[in-house]
Amino acid sequence: MKKVIIALIAICLALVCVIIIKICVSDTPDDTVITNTSTPEATTPESTPVGTATPTPTDEPIIPVVTDPPPPLHETIDPDTLSGDEKAAYTWCDKAYEAAKESKSLSKGSDTESINSKWSSVYDVVCNQMTRYYDYYLSGGISYKSFECLMNSYAQIPSASGIAKGYIEVAKSKEQSGSIVDNFVQYVNKGKYMKATMLLKDISNASSIVTIKDLFASNTDAFKQGITAAVTEYMVRYELAEGKSYLEALKGLGVDEHIQTEADRLEAYRKFQDVELVNCNVTTTLENIYTHCLIAYPEINFQSKSTYNWCGVDCLTVSEFVAILNALYEKGYIIVDANLFYDAENDTINTTLKLPKGKKPLLLTFDDVTYDSRKDNRGMIDKLILDEDGYVCTYTKHADGREVISYENEIFPIINAFVREHPDFTFHGSRGTLFFTGFDGICGYRTQSNPIDDNEAQLGLDRQSEIIEAKQVIEALRDEGWTFGSHSYKHSRMSNLSASSFRSDTNRWLEEVGAIVGDTILFCWPYGDHGGGELRKNAEHKYLFDNGFKFFFGCGAKRFYANETDGNGIFSDRKAITGEALHYYSLGYKTYIQEYSYLFDPNSIWDPYRLPYKSNYLPEEVGVK
Ligand SMILES: [Zn+2]
Repeated sequence: MKKVIIALIAICLALVCVIIIKICVSDTPDDTVITNTSTPEATTPESTPVGTATPTPTDEPIIPVVTDPPPPLHETIDPDTLSGDEKAAYTWCDKAYEAAKESKSLSKGSDTESINSKWSSVYDVVCNQMTRYYDYYLSGGISYKSFECLMNSYAQIPSASGIAKGYIEVAKSKEQSGSIVDNFVQYVNKGKYMKATMLLKDISNASSIVTIKDLFASNTDAFKQGITAAVTEYMVRYELAEGKSYLEALKGLGVDEHIQTEADRLEAYRKFQDVELVNCNVTTTLENIYTHCLIAYPEINFQSKSTYNWCGVDCLTVSEFVAILNALYEKGYIIVDANLFYDAENDTINTTLKLPKGKKPLLLTFDDVTYDSRKDNRGMIDKLILDEDGYVCTYTKHADGREVISYENEIFPIINAFVREHPDFTFHGSRGTLFFTGFDGICGYRTQSNPIDDNEAQLGLDRQSEIIEAKQVIEALRDEGWTFGSHSYKHSRMSNLSASSFRSDTNRWLEEVGAIVGDTILFCWPYGDHGGGELRKNAEHKYLFDNGFKFFFGCGAKRFYANETDGNGIFSDRKAITGEALHYYSLGYKTYIQEYSYLFDPNSIWDPYRLPYKSNYLPEEVGVK
């Protein structure tokens, strides 16, 4: 009886641990995506290799490890010392154990009812057996799976059910903390100290686990860098409370001073984001800028005058885009979520926003993000993918079969990296908005109902798998702070559409793209064409409004931000930053000189690959409209 009471106390204590130790399934590393470039996390080469990927025994484990011998079967007990009821209980316990070995559980029946009805006389037998089987599981005699099946049999006896379920919880938490240590070691072996430390928030007392402590001691500088990277990640994702508890969990691991420095940095950032805010007049300061996906491979697009048109007119190269980001950052702009501009309650623009002192609001939007299959091998990437840690990167298969995975040739990973370097460039974790069409899917996935042409049809892609992959990319982008909007389904000139075509285009976008990206209030007119304003006050505008779109975007170099005249939503023009704009500026077009000069000097950012087209050709010749 005494041992049973001790066991019950142990269960209660362990259950407290269970509550503290949270499941950590999503952080499990897998090897499905192999990248050949560095991940966003800084890796440190001088990490100490760890020989084994299995959980290492610890001096002070979270769960007390008991290594008694396996439980004796009832044959080993002198039957003469047992009552008839006790013998029957032992026999049932044996049956349950035999079933568990085959990963099965006994169900409720007359035998469990009988044990239950004689509970006071078989209590010691049943509970002692459960304790012994638990010890046996701890010593490695049976697997977790078998132990769980065994306890599920015991749970069929109403009086034993609570204890049995308690044992299952305790064992489950032991498995989980074991797998956290295992994953921790795997991340360290890969040099991913940030990811490794982020696992520890799910262990109640990481500093009591010797494996973790030892690794911290032998890789202190690498762990410090990892902690700094993690705190930055929490900052730029605006997960400030999570960042705080992350740091708490790392106390006692030998880097407390560094943790304090990081906690101070996190707190200063919280004040910057949440406390030291001032009213900013949006109507006079908002800068609304758009471009398209980047020219990832300028050497392909700028081969000749005839290939220039592929992406050269609509798009920027990486170096051009990064130069603009730097200029905007230096001018004091901060990226703000487009949704913050619409006052839903009063269906009106927000004229002021509370923003960090000295910052001006910046809306960044990116059109299409289709990676149209007809434009493969023309200098853009093929699609956005996720790396093994869930970060968005790019995938391109070149004409010669070479496959390239990169974090450095498309807007999305570039902006993510930029805000990590300059966390004060994002307000509340916002990144920008992707305006999707639907005619050839999104993000390089063929999620649409019909293949765009025979070539695509011949690929025989499975639409459902394309949708699943696209959703994963969208969720990762959303987690990173990106928002999504409609750019219509077909990218038609909407002013040429009949009322019924307009509506069916809208419906199709909602069915095929909206279903993947979720509800949105953001709509961007293709080509900036709203029929000179006509489409912004007719029944079709109302149709868009009634279907959830409230904030409409056009194209125009001059800043413009106002309520729609028909009372249905709000509108803002966007400044194009494209190859075409670079040409117009270099030609001295008045509007461009006036509207771009105060942001950056477009003449100074031309990519070396584009430069030959600056003086040799007039825009008309290379196709600039
Ligand atoms: Zn477009």
